[in-house]
Amino acid sequence: MIITNSKIKCIKLQIKKLNNYIDSINLSLPFLNYLETNVVDHCNLNCKGCAHFSNIYDNNYVNLTDYEHDIKLISQKFNVYYFRILGGKPLLHPNFPELLNISRKILPNTKIVVVSNGLLIDKLD
Ligand code: SF4
Repeated sequence: MIITNSKIKCIKLQIKKLNNYIDSINLSLPFLNYLETNVVDHCNLNCKGCAHFSNIYDNNYVNLTDYEHDIKLISQKFNVYYFRILGGKPLLHPNFPELLNISRKILPNTKIVVVSNGLLIDKLD
């Protein structure tokens, strides 16, 4: 097996990220390995098998003040390891960049993943 310099760099980066995460943990709080929330109910596609029934929702999305309040509350109760932002189609939220900034500000070391069909990514600022 050949270990290249780029693989070593990648491993060092992963170790650094893990150390940062370990340093950020509040040991007085329990761990929540996985958390997800639907920030938008509607979608720009109409898949027949949609598990969220986005194809029958009217336009509906989370209020940013409520979102910030709820995420803050959870962050005060748990160390959240992995957080998924779901829809419908999350990128249809009218304040999506702000929603993402709020998530990162409140959960600075959590792995944040946006689940999207990808069709609007080119249109993001
Ligand atoms: S949320 Fe996913 S499965 Fe549902 S309609 Fe949109 S793209 Fe299709």
